[in-house]
This record gives sequence, structure tokens and C-alpha cells, in this order.
Amino acid sequence: MEYYVHIGFEVHIRLATKTKMFCSCSTEEGEPNTHICPVCLGYPGALPVPNKEAFKYAIKMAKALNGKINKTVIFARKNYFYPDLPKGYQITQHEPPLMEDGYLVLAESGKKIRIIRLHVEEDAAKTLYDSETGRQGENAFLMVDYNRSGVPLAEIVSYPDIHDPDEGVEYLKTLQALARYLGVSEANMEKGEMRADVNISVSTAPDKLGTKVEIKNMNSFKAIHDALEYEIQRQIHALETGETIYQETRMWDEASGKTLVMRRKETSDDYRYFPEPDIPPFELEQEVIDIEPEFDDLHKLYKEVNSWNIDEKKVGFIVYSPEIYKALKYLIEKGVPPKFAVSMYLDEIKGQLEKSGLSLEDRHKDWVVYLHKLISDGKIDNSIAKKIIRKAISQNKEPKEIYEAEFSGPSISEEDIRKTIRDILAKNPDIVQKYKDGKKSVFGFLMGQCMKAFGGKVPAATVKKLLGEELERV
Ligand SMILES: [Zn+2]
Repeated sequence: MEYYVHIGFEVHIRLATKTKMFCSCSTEEGEPNTHICPVCLGYPGALPVPNKEAFKYAIKMAKALNGKINKTVIFARKNYFYPDLPKGYQITQHEPPLMEDGYLVLAESGKKIRIIRLHVEEDAAKTLYDSETGRQGENAFLMVDYNRSGVPLAEIVSYPDIHDPDEGVEYLKTLQALARYLGVSEANMEKGEMRADVNISVSTAPDKLGTKVEIKNMNSFKAIHDALEYEIQRQIHALETGETIYQETRMWDEASGKTLVMRRKETSDDYRYFPEPDIPPFELEQEVIDIEPEFDDLHKLYKEVNSWNIDEKKVGFIVYSPEIYKALKYLIEKGVPPKFAVSMYLDEIKGQLEKSGLSLEDRHKDWVVYLHKLISDGKIDNSIAKKIIRKAISQNKEPKEIYEAEFSGPSISEEDIRKTIRDILAKNPDIVQKYKDGKKSVFGFLMGQCMKAFGGKVPAATVKKLLGEELERV
């Protein structure tokens, strides 16, 4: 029997506004329960006022997802009870959503995933469980941090167009990178700025869905991938053995590597949506409607980075990291060859900074431009460029200072280089003899002696060339 997997996502992305969705409380992190007011604590009679900035961000994302925009905003109450929801309802866009019938082009494969809708809503507060509060036994109780209550979110719902866990991760990475390129959200999963619920079903025909199971509680790409792998096998096993697959919500249990039942659904949830009486329907202002995203297709960008002819494994990483991509693009526009830019900026500078617990800054781009110029002028070679980077980082100096103090010096004339090489050959007659007898591997030893004598002031390529010539003359 052949099985077909259908995966859809509901992704929440925190919009990067400074204040909350319906009040002027800060969205910054802070001591628990310090960014709160009667509105986001749900006091009776407190009046919510929609945040225009949130719609500016949401409209960018909505347009980048290629859907139809609804100018009329109707907020609704979604009713349910939970300690993190003090009002007893969440204010959300129900019908119509801000955007419908869109699609996202996956970065690597270029496949189109259809998007059902994107809508704006407020976040719930954050509940802290025993493991987070550190309280155990009799003292254990649930704690709630209302700083997150009322933070603006965009919820993006996709059709079940995804067919395997790798594609699911590619979808989420593409969506995350898109939010970052647009400046709509940092979309950091570890910080809860991007959260994904997944629905999955397995069927025996490609055009037919199976019984839909929802999975929650995954907060990394790896957890999502593992949960999907597990769930696909569980459902295939059930179909093969004739077990019933229930329509239910399951949670991913990282420790056991299994999905576990949270609640079984007899009918679909009834949230008794009704229009929010405190916010009459309104039209988005033209200024908001007219916002155009400056970026829209990660697949085009993927093809561009791929054409740089760099290590294939790095292409995805660069595309999914807007800051890195923009920096490399800047370097290439400055005339630095892509391979050199990637090797110096990504491998050397970023790598060395990370070893020292530091991170990339704007000025590091200009390091690469400077070092590339020195190499083009024949003043240093790649290995000296790397030495300069290491010294600049460990001594907290600019490469220019290191180069001028240690590597520029009065330039050594070719005749002087040859003279030093000849001296070294004269001191090592037996090694030279071995070379003459055909043991070419001793070349490396002689090369090392010469490099040491020049103290890194002569590029290796020059030494290699002249040493080869001198050896022929002996
Ligand atoms: Zn507030």
C-alpha cells in the first residue's frame, strides 16, 4: 500500500512593534508583570485601541505572501477560558482575515505552498510551569507573566501542501527568513517570537486527506522534524493494523521522542466568535494599504547565491541569514570575489569572533574589502590575510594597524628573497641532494624554512615560485 502525507502549518509570528496590539504597554522583555495595564490585564470596561504599526508590519508580510488584501478590519472575540487569557476571550480577526489565498515559494526547491490566510491578533500571557518557576511539591503552582498579554501576532495558516518533514522545515525556515528580510519580526523560535502548530494526516490516495491530527509544543526546527517523523510512522502503523486514528491534539514529548494525546475532539472547537463590540469595523488607511514589501521571493535569492559557486552546504545558511546575505552582497558589489568574501567573512572573521564569544559588526565587512585590496596589490597572500584577522580579533585592533606594524615593512626585493633562499639551500646540502635525487616531498621542509626566515612578510606563492627556480639552479 502506498501512503500519502499531508502537512499544514499554523504559524504565529510576533510583530516587531514597540507597543502592544491594543494598549501602549511596551513589548520589550522585562521583569515579569511590569509591562501591564488595565487593557492587557483584561479589566472590565478597559477599551482596546488597535495599533496601526502592527498593521504596517502585517501588510508587508501579507503582500510578500502574494494574497488578496482585505481593507476592512473586523475584530472578533474568540471565547475560551485559560489563566493566560484574563478577559476570557482573545481579540482576533476572524472573517475576513487581513489576507487570503496567498502562497509562499520555498527557498531551496522553489515549490509553491498555498496559504489559506494571514490575520492579526493579540498574544496570550505566558504561563510558567514548575520546571520554569523552580517550585516543587506543595509549593508548586502555575505562575503567569502578563508582559506577553496583548503583544501583536500575525497568524499564517497554510494548506496541507507539504508532504514530508524536510519540506516542513524548509517551509518554516523560508517563512522565518522572509519575516527577517522584511523586518517584520526577529521570528526567533527559542524566544517564542515564532511558534508553529502542525496538522498532519496520512491517506492512501494523493488527493484525499486522512484523519487530521494536530501537534503542539514544538519549539525548534529539530523538534518539529522529529515530531513529524514519529507521527507519520505512527499513523502508517495504525492504517496497516486497522487501528482507529482519532481526530485529536497531541503534544510532542522531547524526552520520550513521542507524540502524546492531549485532547480528543468529538466536534470542532466552538469559540463562539462574535464581533468585538469595543472596536467597530474600520477601513485600513491608504498609507497602510500602500506599503510594499521590498522583498518577495527567497527562491530567486537562493538561485543567486548558488551562482556564486561556493560550497553547496553554505548556500542555504546564507539565504536563511539575512544579515550575512546582505553583508556578502555588499562585498561582492565592492568587487570582492564571492568565494573570497565567503571564506574571509563567514569562515575566518565570523568563526574567529565566535571562538572569542563576539559577533559580527558592520566594520568587519570593510576588513574584507581592505584585505582583498592588499592581496590584489600583491602585498600579502591568503594565509597572511588570515593571520591578520586572527591578530586583529585577539588584540582588538583594526587589520590596517596589524598590517602596518607587522607585515608591511620595507618591501624585500626579489634579489634579497633569492639570496635568503640560496643561504638556506647552502645550509641544507643533504636535503637539496635528496630533492635532486627525486625525493620531491622535501620541498615542503625547505618551503617551511624559507617562510620562517621571511617571518610572513613574503607571500607564500612568491616563495614557492622562487624556491622552485633556485632549486633548479643548484
Ligand atoms: Zn497594556
